Formats: sequence, structure tokens, C-alpha cells
Amino acid sequence: MLVLTGKPVSDGIGIGPLALFRRAEVSTEVRPVEDREAELVRFREARDEAAGQLQALHARALETVGEEDAAIFEIHQMMLEDDEYTEGVETRIRDGLNAEAAVERTAQELSAIFRDMDDEYMRGRAADVTDVSRRVEQILCGVSPMDASAYDKVVLAADDLAAEEVMHLDTKKILGVVLSAGSASSHTAILIRNLGIPAVFGVGESITGRLEGQMTAVDGGSGEVILNPDTATLAEMQEKQGRFQQGREELDRVRGQESVTLDGQKVRICANAGHLSLLSGVLSNDAEGIGLFRSEFIYLESDDYPTEEEQFSIYKNVLEAMPDKRVIIRTLDIGADKKADYFELEPEENPALGMRAIRICLTRPELFKTQLRALCRASVYGKLSVMFPMIISVEEVRKAKAMLREVREELLSKGIPVADAIETGIMIETPAAALISGELAREVDFFSIGTNDLTQYTLAIDRRQTNLDAFFDAHHPAVLRLIEMTVRNAHEAGIWVGICGELGADLSLTETFLRMGVDELSVAAANILPLRAKVRSLNLQASEKRNAD
Ligand code: PEP
Ligand code: MG
Repeated sequence: MLVLTGKPVSDGIGIGPLALFRRAEVSTEVRPVEDREAELVRFREARDEAAGQLQALHARALETVGEEDAAIFEIHQMMLEDDEYTEGVETRIRDGLNAEAAVERTAQELSAIFRDMDDEYMRGRAADVTDVSRRVEQILCGVSPMDASAYDKVVLAADDLAAEEVMHLDTKKILGVVLSAGSASSHTAILIRNLGIPAVFGVGESITGRLEGQMTAVDGGSGEVILNPDTATLAEMQEKQGRFQQGREELDRVRGQESVTLDGQKVRICANAGHLSLLSGVLSNDAEGIGLFRSEFIYLESDDYPTEEEQFSIYKNVLEAMPDKRVIIRTLDIGADKKADYFELEPEENPALGMRAIRICLTRPELFKTQLRALCRASVYGKLSVMFPMIISVEEVRKAKAMLREVREELLSKGIPVADAIETGIMIETPAAALISGELAREVDFFSIGTNDLTQYTLAIDRRQTNLDAFFDAHHPAVLRLIEMTVRNAHEAGIWVGICGELGADLSLTETFLRMGVDELSVAAANILPLRAKVRSLNLQASEKRNAD
């Protein structure tokens, strides 16, 4: 028996014989080039052919996995046309490299840049660059895409899988997926999760040909992969598989139900979304609204400041996808771990304590107003709330609201419609904001507590520094007291308060938050149904009575 551990990517248990995924090899070795111009033409032809293949794949995906997931193939097409990518390859060819090697080196360089980014979504783009480049390399080498018919009722192991390779698999025949590498936020991961295949990524290089055919159990919830399990372990995994299935069915039963405790306390369970591609998950997991739409992805994916028009169309899309449900769009939260070069932010010793979020917006009013204009124009397409991040003072809130008012009046004076009421709120994610939440509550319609930053700033621990994990206690009494204080102050001022940081999904704190009176919990889409099931299992009065006895 061999137990490997990796990243849990798609929940569930898959048990079956291991099959190694084989793709046709391509050679990206450097070889001499006689005619550089001809080599450039070779690359361009291969790139155009790849774009054509991706277009066909997109059409096929539209039928099988729907519009949101199919969008991956459009993104891949866009990557192929991206200037940085094309110029990277062409410059290398002009410098004397053959097309295959030029594509491979450009892919390596760009994917390393993506992998180093702090934003999880952007890190996931590293895999996209590799996938797109592999397709071009296959065409250059005259190799045809994979034949997947060989895989039947197996646990599939590979170094990595491209989103399009997942599309070639007959997913009903794949019981689980194990990857030596792979990012949990890649499109491959998103597709596999949406297809419901248990998966573990990043187990390292330990899976080799000699393990092929061995009975394998993949636990996509814990990240464990057990090869050749002994009889007792196999029975245990089968039992766990049964329990998981039963749990899924129970979760399905809470779909469409109210989020209410047994003794009648209600809470709204909404979704966090950091990208349009996550909307299908928001809808399929029955979110009661969007509690945090992280608008910065629009800026992070762009090479220059996104225009009002570009932003308007994205906000309109989100609002239209959630008819009659509140959608809280957070204004730009860039800086610290989220950087875009064109902002030309000064290098900082302590970026988490530096120029970020509302601080950038208030110092660059035109940038902020472009976003506010796009938001105001989109407001007529749904139930929009606007939320300002990283607030530390009443002054900041007043300034941000004044700018929103100004933009609104400007649009109305030009005859452009804006919703009558746009709720405004702030994130409580600094200890300063929590401590003055009494004063802040008089300025806004709601609070949303960002426990990720609130914990970082309260405990003085960089949220990204993994060697400090042992000290990062999200249940620290200081954090919980600040949350409690914020909820109390919000309610005293008559406004509602939610939690949109990761802690909102922590089922061991659900009862605590409900007792504090939190009105909304906004969590990643996959956490909505487990959270609702937890809420529906609680009886606050009965457990209070039990504790008192
Ligand atoms: C938070 O800080 O808790 C939060 C939700 O914002 P982000 O994680 O985007 O900083
Ligand atoms: Mg934050």
C-alpha cells in the first residue's frame, strides 16, 4: 500500500485501477534554422490552425458543458492572439530558434510569470499558457491530439491535463483523476469539479508506469491517494464513498430550501465570485445573492486600464444573471498582493500596509469615477449594491460616497438611467474599521466583514506567508471579538451585516456567527449547500438551554 498526498481539488471518492494518461510526444529540442522568415510562417500557420481547432472545441463544449465552461476555449483562443505571447515566440524565432523551441520557451517564461502572481485566479492561468502552447507544438510536430477511448472505468493519472484533454475524455468512464502537478484554480480543475470527478492534484513525481493497473482510491476531499490499499483500507474507502454519495444527496435536498435554523433564525447564504466564469457555480449552488464580487479581476486580466464600456458590460452580465437577488460589487481592491503593471505603483517595503484599494481610488479620482460610472449605468439591470474595501475612517466613506453621488448626478443630467437606490456598504477588514464600526454604521447601508484581511491586520501576520501558518489562528479571540463588536454596532445603528471572508464558510463557527446575529454569510459557491445544511441542523435555543443546564 502506498499513500500519496496532494491538493484536494474535486471532492468525492473514486476507486478503480490506475491508468496512466499518454499523450503523443512532441519534440521541442533546439535545431538549426536555415530560413528564419519561413520559420515565422510555420509558426503563424500552426497558430492559426490551433485557433481553428479551439473554435471547434468551443462549439462542442457549448453542447456538452454549457456556455460558462465552454468559455475556457475562447480564453485559449485569445491567449493565442495575445501580443505578449506572439511577440515572445516571434522574437525568439527572429533570434534564430526553431518554432517548436520558441513556443516552448515562451510558454515556460509566461507560465512562470503567472505562477508567481499572488492572485489565485491569475496563478491558474499558467496552465492555460502551457495548454495552448502544447496544441501549437503538436501541430508543428505533425502529431494528432489524443485518443481517449482507451480509458474505461479507471482512475486516470497524468503529470498535468489540459482543459481540452478533459473535454476529450469520456467523463462517465473516469472514476478519479490524480495529477503530479496541476493548479487547483486552473480551468482543468474548474472543469473537473463541474463534471463531479473526484480529483487530487500535485502529488509529485511518485506515480510511474510500474503502478499502472494497481487498485487506487482517490479522496478528492482530503487530498489522499491510496495505491494498492489493503483489504481494511479498501473497505474503509468504499464506506466513505457511500457516505459521500449520501451526503451529496442530502445536500441536494437543501437546494431551494430556506437557510433557517430549526428554531427559526434566518441567515442569507450568498456567494463570493472573483470572475464571470464562476457565475455558473453561483447559480447551480443556489446562492441567495452575490455577497462579494471581486471586481479587481477585470483590472488584473487587462494590459491597460479597463474602459467604462468593458466594465459596464461585465457588471450588467452579473446583474442580469442574478435577477431579483442582491449583487454586491466591491470597488477596485488592487495593490498589496494584487498588482497590475500599468498602475505603476511605487515599490513598497510593506505592500499590505501600503497603497491599496480605496487608497488608490481616492488618490486617482478619474480611475475610480470610471468604475463608479460603469456601476451606476449597470445598476438598472438588477439589484446592485456597491461596497468599498479597506476602509479605516469615516472621512474615506464620505469621500467615496460623494464621488458615487457626483457620478450618478452627472449621468442622470445626461439622461442616462441609474437605479433609484443603490445600497452602499463597506468592508470591515481592518481593526480600525471594526473599532469605529459604531460611527461607520451611520454612514452606510451595510457592513461586510472581510475576515481574511481582518485576521491578517489584527494578528500582524502576512496572510500569504505560509511559514507563519502555525501562528495564523483565524479563531483567535481578538478576531472573534472584533467581529462581535462590528455586528453589535451595525445592529444598533439599524443596518445589516455579513461576513464575506473565508471564515464565513468555517462550519465550526456557524453557530457562533448566528448567535452574534450575522445576517449574511457569503462564501465560495461550493460551500453554499454544506453551509445551508449546517444552518438547518442547528437549534440555537435548545443548545443554549443545554449549555445553561
Ligand atoms: C477579506 O479580506 O476577507 C476579503 C473578503 O477580501 P479579499 O480576500 O479579496 O482581500
Ligand atoms: Mg480583503
